[in-house]
Amino acid sequence: MSAPILSQAPRIVVLGSLNMDLVLRVPHMPRAGETMLGHSLTQVPGGKGGNQAVSCARQGAAVTLLSCVGEDAYAEQLLAGLVADHIHAQHVQRTALAGTGVAVISVDDAAQNQIVVVPGANELLRVPQALLQAQLQGADYVVLQLETPLAEVEQALRLARQTGCKTALNPSPMQALPEHWWPMVDLLVVNESEAAQLCGRPVDTPQAAAAAARQLQGRGVAQVVVTLGALGAVACDATIANDDGTEAIPGVAHWHEAAQVQAVDTTAAGDTFLGALTVQLARGLGLNDATQWAMRAASICVTRAGAQPSIPYFAEVETLTG
Ligand code: ATP
Repeated sequence: MSAPILSQAPRIVVLGSLNMDLVLRVPHMPRAGETMLGHSLTQVPGGKGGNQAVSCARQGAAVTLLSCVGEDAYAEQLLAGLVADHIHAQHVQRTALAGTGVAVISVDDAAQNQIVVVPGANELLRVPQALLQAQLQGADYVVLQLETPLAEVEQALRLARQTGCKTALNPSPMQALPEHWWPMVDLLVVNESEAAQLCGRPVDTPQAAAAAARQLQGRGVAQVVVTLGALGAVACDATIANDDGTEAIPGVAHWHEAAQVQAVDTTAAGDTFLGALTVQLARGLGLNDATQWAMRAASICVTRAGAQPSIPYFAEVETLTG
């Protein structure tokens, strides 16, 4: 399966993690003290940075990944996977000081997952300012998550502002973030639990998601999308500021319902969603059309097992649309 041939592909820089996922299929999540027999154990390329880079590449973008891996066999497998997806991986750093990141993912018979990440080399990512600046120059978006040091994420947000590159942030795994980040975020994509942690109240309905999106926009974020798993997503467009100083017009929040599919594994659904959303925005689609497209991509992802192997190509999403 190939990506679409375009006269000019969107240019995306992803700064983030690479992990080898060790995927345990289990009948149900083990309780404390329980010993159980699992169904299977498989090794699958993952990490939020890697997954989002693969999603962008399979949607037809020219992608550069800035990441850090160890000097071990997992690193070789991960890098080979990136090359197969035509991702520019020449700036992925190698370190002898830590092993490649690993995520132990348990998936139960109800397709729910639990994930424990050991970051390893991801914690040692340090991108030289000149390199980052050169990569962001002319890029449409830089895509960021929180599995790498916050100082690197902040540097990317700041340099993106200077170079005119838009920013997409997926604050996962959630941690305390400085308030001055928010006005540097053009697109914020959060799931229910991230939205709840950021807003300090439950976000489990489309109405609550719309209120959360507006609350986050109040802090300075431009566009906000709250993903709601099988319920779909709520997209809230940027507030339109009036040049004449009169009151700004708040963006309208839209709930997009997800297609009903037989989910087998939701791992990387959020990463698939963010990658597809960002590429379609970079192509010039409006937020609601781009969200619809991203939901179709994510609905394909959840019907397949594993992280990167489950991420669909542009043509597959197009077939679903047509
Ligand atoms: P994950 O951490 O599992 O990668 P997430 O928690 O970041 O995912 P979700 O909100 O669970 O993100 O899912 C992202 C998108 O994937 C949803 O907005 C929806 O479009 C799609 N999706 C997830 N689960 C389902 C499902 N069971 N059926 C259809 N679509 C789904």
